[in-house]
Amino acid sequence: MKKIAVVGCGAYMDSGYGCPGEWRCLKAAAFGEGSFDDPSAVVAFIKCECPGRTVLPNLGMAMKVSETKPDEIYLSSCLVNAKPGCPYMKPEELAKMIEDKTGIKVTLGTHDYH
Ligand code: SF4
Repeated sequence: MKKIAVVGCGAYMDSGYGCPGEWRCLKAAAFGEGSFDDPSAVVAFIKCECPGRTVLPNLGMAMKVSETKPDEIYLSSCLVNAKPGCPYMKPEELAKMIEDKTGIKVTLGTHDYH
């Protein structure tokens, strides 16, 4: 089974509005729905914190401590589709930063549940 990590928007999750990170990404990964072609094992869930400086070190720490390198990293749908969007960076910029640092493919969005 593919191993994946999810990066969620902490500002959105902390708002408690819609989905504070508790099920949508996890369900989509578990059942192979939304952006997932097949059921996938979520081996890390990283919560971004404004202004976004924590993502790369926390992702690196999660991989190091868990001794598990994800096959693919997903930016959550709340991070990618939030309106208004992230004031600090475009999702594409964050994806490129993560890909450049880790060498792991990053996919934009996890699910299309409402
Ligand atoms: S930096 Fe952007 S993506 Fe990260 S928590 Fe803040 S608003 Fe969300």
